[in-house]
Formats: sequence, C-alpha cells, structure tokens
Amino acid sequence: MYNYLEGLNEPQRVAVEHRDGPIMIIAGAGSGKTKVLTTRIAHLMKNGVDAFNILALTFTNKAAAEMKERVEKALGNSEARNLYIGTFHSIFARILRVEAPKLGYPSNFTIYDTDDAKGVIKDIVKQMNLDDKHYKPAYILNRISAAKNGLIGPAAYRVDSAIQMEDAKSQRHRMADIYDAYTNQCFKNGAMDFDDLLFKMHTLLTTFSDVLAKYQQRFHYVLIDEYQDTNAAQYSIIKLLGAVRENICVVGDDAQSIYSFRGATVQNILQFQDDYDDVKVVKLEQNYRSSQNIINVANNVIGNNQHQIPKELWTSNKEGEKIMLARTMTDNDEGKFVADAIKEMQMRNHYANKDFAILYRTNAQSRAFEESLRRMNIPYKLYGGVSFYQRKEVKDYLAYLRLVVNTRDEENLKRIINVPARGIGNTTVLKYISAANEHQRTVWEIIENGSGNPKVDGFVQMIKGFQSMLESKNAYDVAFAIGKYSGLVAELYNDKTVEGLARYENVQELLNSIKEFTETPDEEGEILDKSLGSYLQQISLQTDVENNKGKEEDIDVVKLMTIHSAKGLEFPCVFVVGLEETLFPSSMSLYDRAGLEEERRLFYVAITRAKERLWVTYANSRYRFGTLVNNDESRFVQEIPLAYLDRTFTGASNRPQNGPAKGVSGMLNQNFDKVPSLKKLADKLATSTASQKVHTPSADFTADDAGDMSIGMKVEHQKFGFGTILTLEGGANNRIAGIDFGEGHGVKKIMLNYAKLKIV
Ligand code: ATP
Ligand code: MG
Repeated sequence: MYNYLEGLNEPQRVAVEHRDGPIMIIAGAGSGKTKVLTTRIAHLMKNGVDAFNILALTFTNKAAAEMKERVEKALGNSEARNLYIGTFHSIFARILRVEAPKLGYPSNFTIYDTDDAKGVIKDIVKQMNLDDKHYKPAYILNRISAAKNGLIGPAAYRVDSAIQMEDAKSQRHRMADIYDAYTNQCFKNGAMDFDDLLFKMHTLLTTFSDVLAKYQQRFHYVLIDEYQDTNAAQYSIIKLLGAVRENICVVGDDAQSIYSFRGATVQNILQFQDDYDDVKVVKLEQNYRSSQNIINVANNVIGNNQHQIPKELWTSNKEGEKIMLARTMTDNDEGKFVADAIKEMQMRNHYANKDFAILYRTNAQSRAFEESLRRMNIPYKLYGGVSFYQRKEVKDYLAYLRLVVNTRDEENLKRIINVPARGIGNTTVLKYISAANEHQRTVWEIIENGSGNPKVDGFVQMIKGFQSMLESKNAYDVAFAIGKYSGLVAELYNDKTVEGLARYENVQELLNSIKEFTETPDEEGEILDKSLGSYLQQISLQTDVENNKGKEEDIDVVKLMTIHSAKGLEFPCVFVVGLEETLFPSSMSLYDRAGLEEERRLFYVAITRAKERLWVTYANSRYRFGTLVNNDESRFVQEIPLAYLDRTFTGASNRPQNGPAKGVSGMLNQNFDKVPSLKKLADKLATSTASQKVHTPSADFTADDAGDMSIGMKVEHQKFGFGTILTLEGGANNRIAGIDFGEGHGVKKIMLNYAKLKIV
C-alpha cells in the first residue's frame, strides 16, 4: 500500500503526527499546507479516529473535492466518504437543513443566490418609495453581506455608530430599515442567502446550547484550510465548535489573504495564538510546486508589501524557464496570443490541454480567450461566470421546484404564478401580496384554501398535486412531472426560434442533471437522499464551480477562471492576463495602500499557481464598460526583476483601432533588452496607429545605471514626473531610492532596478 507518510519533510511530518491540541501552520505557497492537512486527516483515521468525528473546511467546492480525493488516495479505501469535508457554506447548509426548524425556518429552506437576494431588495426599495438609483440593490446587498459576515444583525446594525456614520455620510439613512425588512422578508419566505448560512449557523450555536454541545461532541477534530481568508463569522463558529477539545488545526498563508472585501481578516491568524494556551506552530519553507524562477519572482513581488508575517520560501526544483511577458495591442490580440502560445507549447513540449490555466482578475475578461480558443479548436472550460443556473428558463424551472418544496417562498411564487401565461395578471398578484402583508401571512397561505379566482385556484391545485409526490418520488420524477403538467416544457418546445431551441435544450440539460443526481450514489454517505429538497440544496451551493461530474483530472481542457477561484490549485502552465493599471491592480484599490497590498497578494496567488511555466500578459487597449480605454502596464509587472523576464511584443501595425481582431501580425519573439534595434522597431509599431497610447514595457534603465544615481540628483519617472533623490539604500541589485516628486506625489520609495527612471 502507498505509504502516505513517506516523502514528507521534517516539519510536515511533525505537523501530521501532532495529535491533540491546537496547531497552526503558516507558510508560503506550495509548501504543502494542504498536503499536510489531508495527510493529517488520513493519519488520524489510521490511528483510530472515526471519519464521522472529523470536520474539514475550505473555501471552494473545487478545493474541497481535491481534498477529499487526496485523503482517499492516502487512505487507499473509501472510508473517507463519511468525513465532513466541504466548504463552510455547504457544511453549514447541511447542518442547518437538520437544525433550521429550531430557528423557525423550514428544513427545506430555500438558498438565495445574489440575484434572488437583489430581487427581494428591489421590492423593498420600491415599497419604501426610495430612489433605486441611490439605493442600488447590489450596493445594499454588499452592506448587508458585510454586516452579516461581521456578525452584525439588523438590531446591532441600527445602533453601531461607525456604520450609522457611514450610512449618513453616503446619504443612505434608510439602510438599517432596509436590512430589517430584508431579514424579515427572507424569514417569511423561508429563505437564507449565502451569508445567512454563516450568520444563522452562528445564531444556532449561540442560542441553543444543546445544539452546540451536540456538534462539539461530534467533531473531535476540526481542520481549516486557507485560514487567512476566514471572516468574523467563520472564525467564531470554528472557535465555538472546537472549544471543548481544542483539536483545531488551521493552515494558511497571510500573503494569500484575498478576501478582505468580504470581511476576511488576517487578524484571525494572529489571534489564534492568543485564543489557546498551547498552540503548536509549524513553519514550512520548502516549496515543492514551482520552478526556482517562479519562486524568485513570487518572493520579489510580495516583498513590496509592508504588511506581512516574515517567511522564507525556497525550492530545490529546477531553475526553469524565465517568466514570459507579452504586451499586445488589444484584448482580442491578447486572447489570440494566449491561444497561439498554448498551441505552440503543445507542439514543442507535448503539454496536454489540461496543463494550462488562464487566470484573470475579473470574469468579464474571459470572452477574448474563449473566442480565440474556440477559433483554434482548443477545448476549454470556464469556471464561474454567469452560470447555467442563472439563465431565465432554468431559473423559472427551478422556481417551480423551489416553490413545491417550500411554499413560504414568495419570490418563487411571484416568478412563476403566470409562467407560462395562464391569465393571472400583476394586479391580482399584488392584491394577494398586500393581503398577505396585512394579515401577517404568506401569499401561499392567502390563496391555498380558495382565492376567489378560478385561475389562481387551478394553479394552487397543480402545486399541491406536485407536493403530494414529494414523499414517494425522487427529484427527477417530481421535476419531470412539474415540467410536463405546468406547461413549461411544452411552451419552450413550441418555440421554434433559435433562441427557443437553445432554451429548450437548457431545460433538457437541467432535467438530465437531475436524473444524474438521482442515479449517482450519495457521496455524503449518510443518507441516500434523492429527494427534490436534497437536489435543490446541492445545486444552490454550486457557485464557484459548475456542475462537475467525474474527477477533474480526467477532463482534458484548458481552464479559465478568476484568480480568486484558483486559490489553492496548481497547473503546469499558467497565463496571468490583463496586467494593466486600473484592471490589475483594480482601479478601486489604487489610492489606498491596504487595497493595493491586497491586489498584490492576489498577483502573488496567481504567480504561485504555476509549476513550470508562467506568462504574464497585458493589452494596450481594451473595451471596458462599453468604451475603448488605453492602459498603462501594471505596476506589478515592474516588480518582476528583469533577470527573470523574457519579453514578447505582439503588435498589429496598421489595423484600425476599433476594428475586428485580425490577430498577431508581427510577433517578435525576442528579448528586448538584449536587442535594442528590435525594441525600437516594436516601439515604432506601437506608435504607428495614431491616438494609441504608447507604452514601452522595457525599462529605460538597467541595474548598471542604478549605480550612477546619487543623492540630490534630478530624475524623471514615467508616472510621477520629475523628482529629486533624497535617500539611497540597498545593495547594487536592489537599490531603493527615496524620491521627492513634489506636490502631486510626495516622497516615494522606488526600486531602481524596475522603475522607469531617467536622469535629467
Ligand atoms: P497553497 O498555498 O497554494 O495552497 P499549499 O501550501 O497548500 O499551497 P500544497 O498544494 O499542499 O501546497 O502542495 C503543493 C505541491 O507540492 C503539491 O503538488 C504537493 O503534492 C507537493 N508536495 C508538498 N509536499 C511535498 C513533499 N514533501 N514531497 C513532494 N511533493 C510535495
Ligand atoms: Mg493549499
């Protein structure tokens, strides 16, 4: 049998074999944190701990699936199926499905996605007669989400002076009322949004001591991956669950903390040592994932952050290839460049499709890559983005399913009471809603025993008919009947337009996936629950990754995802794309150091996903928010030491700026810094299209020149303009100058090796 302890280095082994008491592993990327965590689980089980007594939490479904796979591999048997391994949200949803009635929710509570939640908020804003341009649902939802993740309920929100001040400042005086109304409406609907899965879990544990005791008894060992990204709610729940036995193992990397916008705080790492008496702390310093060049670049980049826990990270892996930097004219060219590079790599180095990942800052960037990959017949898979489950016809169908299991949910009722059209008008529906509000009832309760409207009564009878199937039929049978007898499928079938056909296929696809659900053995191991309620819960939690059947490794496709969702993963070849000021770092972070440092950590996460080869690309111009914008090279590119870089320039010399992508017309696969004439040519190509902003990615200035700098000297910086050198520090290769750029910019610390400085 495969010996899971073999090959661990000393600190890894120590961490794996540590049995009882709190333990914390804070270490850099690729140092084996997740490996330690999964091996620890296997080790505990090998030494008599029942899988049933182990709880392991992480952030993405993909990471959870990988963790489970790794444990299974280490164990060599299927005992792992009884483990509670999953995302915070999915594990808490499972627990809440059992315990929700204690909080007054049905156990088949609906889980709202962002769209559903915004819908509820929109209605509330309307009812309160507020201006929906000022009270934007997305903004409001963010505020509420932040409050919940910080464990601030509506009552506490109302009296929190900092929150009140902020709402007053932004002229949103009714926020507390909206939060209140939103909470009530969700409760009335028997629905929880994503943040509720944490917030209500916390409420549950703090309100019912017997429930708390039950789970404290159950989970002898609690393990958390990516601990740096826990927020206040998650932190408190972990603490509650582990309070009796204190067998808590947390692993993480402060340099990879990328969720502070959701309330995550690195403080939780620091706090951990104060929370328990005898915390074992383990350091891991050897990276097993990446080439030396990649590690050197990663270390250099993150070195620009001031706030970090000092850590070493080294590797005995090969030096590897240099990092390839490519600048293209447009975002379409960037897409083309990446697809070309993938094809070329495959021919020259025999990489498979699945060896490549394209990582971007925002979902909207995926389009250009999808297009070029499709054109080159390279199979790919997009993770995240607008999911299948957000499409209108799919949502309508799901609304039926949800209503049948949970009639309290007014949102779904409103959505489909007249879909397909059955002559129930808006005014009729509004009448029931106000009656419901008046009598403190749900809309369903108002209409379920006769509504005075035969059409509505017919609808009620139909839903009741579906409900009567719930006990005895599985999810597929009920869903099939709903599609058939509601007229939903027939309506789509009769629409013979291209769009209609696509919608019909989507609904077919939905039914297929429900069928698959009912036929797949239950991995959770506990109960073979193939009911509609169980199905709905499962899909509600599939947000970060689309419905993946089979092992990830088996599908040979290029992977496209945001950097956020790539956390914890690794790929042989990685493209980090869109390195442009205002895109990455994002414009929202540019003027605040904490925000900028978070963006830099995000870049660090991106770089450290690569095992063998890394590309960094950006486009001179791209369409954003409907207009063409010119971009500056991201400051993060300048933080990559020249010694590790290979530059490529792809320019289209004479294409109209707004024209269709023609692809790469001149690819100069050369190292600019060594071939000045090529650089000149490239610059010329770049300037030849009028109105295009010229930007030269190479430094005008190399390490040798850095030696020529002296205090008092006048210099010119590409971005900050003219300045005077005040201080010089560091060795020949990492000289840092303190430069006064006058009123606009003040004194800045500039790394001379990477800055674009000219002596004037
Ligand atoms: P991240 O910070 O990105 O989450 P991590 O610290 O969790 O990274 P892992 O994903 O556990 O790192 O490990 C990175 C890679 O190194 C994996 O492929 C893992 O199998 C491998 N690895 C870890 N430890 C060892 C070891 N002792 N010997 C060989 N390979 C190892
Ligand atoms: Mg990891």
